Amino acid sequence: MSDRLTLTKELLGRLVAFDTTSHKSNLGLISFVEGYLEGFGIESRRVPTADGLKSSLFATIGPSGVGGIGLSGHTDVVPVTGQAWDTDPFTMVERDGKLYGRGTADMKGYLACVLASVPELVARPLKTPMHIVFSYDEEVGCTGVRPMIAELGKTLPLPRMVFVGEPTEMGVVDAHKGPVRWRVEVTGRAAHSSMAHLGVNAITYAGRLLAELGRMEEELKRLPPNPRFDPPWNTLQVTEIGGGTASNIVPVPCWFGWEIRALPGFDVSAFDTRLRRFAAENCLPEMLRTAPEAGIEITITNKVPAFGADTKSGIVPLALKLAGQNETFAVSYATEAGLFQLGGAPSVVCGPGNIAQAHTPNEFVRVAELDKCLGFIERLADWAEQ
Ligand SMILES: [Zn+2]
Repeated sequence: MSDRLTLTKELLGRLVAFDTTSHKSNLGLISFVEGYLEGFGIESRRVPTADGLKSSLFATIGPSGVGGIGLSGHTDVVPVTGQAWDTDPFTMVERDGKLYGRGTADMKGYLACVLASVPELVARPLKTPMHIVFSYDEEVGCTGVRPMIAELGKTLPLPRMVFVGEPTEMGVVDAHKGPVRWRVEVTGRAAHSSMAHLGVNAITYAGRLLAELGRMEEELKRLPPNPRFDPPWNTLQVTEIGGGTASNIVPVPCWFGWEIRALPGFDVSAFDTRLRRFAAENCLPEMLRTAPEAGIEITITNKVPAFGADTKSGIVPLALKLAGQNETFAVSYATEAGLFQLGGAPSVVCGPGNIAQAHTPNEFVRVAELDKCLGFIERLADWAEQ
């Protein structure tokens, strides 16, 4: 086993041990990475949250003043709550060529590969610099990377290209869907449930809205499919719901969350407008007749842009060459790639591990995947010397 692979495993064990579940601070991990980079004389820049409890990290290896290559990953992981793990999720365990632990696939394995490549990267005469670009809060709507992207080309250098190391088994992903999420709050009026006509039942009106969403979902399925994606249509679904007060009270509150995962190039705004119009025409007039304080509030809570790789920068052919692949893939999950690209840095997604293991109990990454990723970074370093 190569020294670099041994170092990768050691580093992954350290990274997994930091419980960086999205709602917790990631500063322990960030300090660890800063200290590690400092050991090689590399300065890091933090882009912290306003409350200072979380931070992104940006660091450069190689010359400054030249467009570099971003190696990008998120430091946060999804919760282990309610999952039945065979081992402690925050203590990495190796068994049968697999490394188990929360975040091993999504995506601390990639972070470990990047960090384990640092000793070699600093030793090489790079003409194109490498940027380490680590974010937080990816798992809660790709929110943490946005303030850092806003600094690219201003207080931080704008990378010429960004490789986002989400788990693709080192395949090259050049397109993904973009989720848009809404929260709908229906407010009715309370009454004793024996006197239903005096109240406004928020759940009844929420039901009408849900039925309309069901019709919208069917329409989205009938649009011309994009066979690169599985499933090949824009998916729409209701993901959360809550409401009511007690079994004998006309319910005042009802809320639900819904989402569309949009194909690249699909504009969801017509569907946003449609639900608002349906509420205004088919629910509100009736509700207001009984209770002027009744209402329906529809808010977009999160929007991650869909991603289609740029074709002018040469990033896709380069990624294919480095990964030893000859075709690209599209995926249905979202990443930070679309945001980097909107921020001016062409991106592709390529990283170790399989998305099927992400977010699950007994998450693992294969050692062989990490080895492939180290090879990818090594070939990238060769390219960066030219
Ligand atoms: Zn991820």
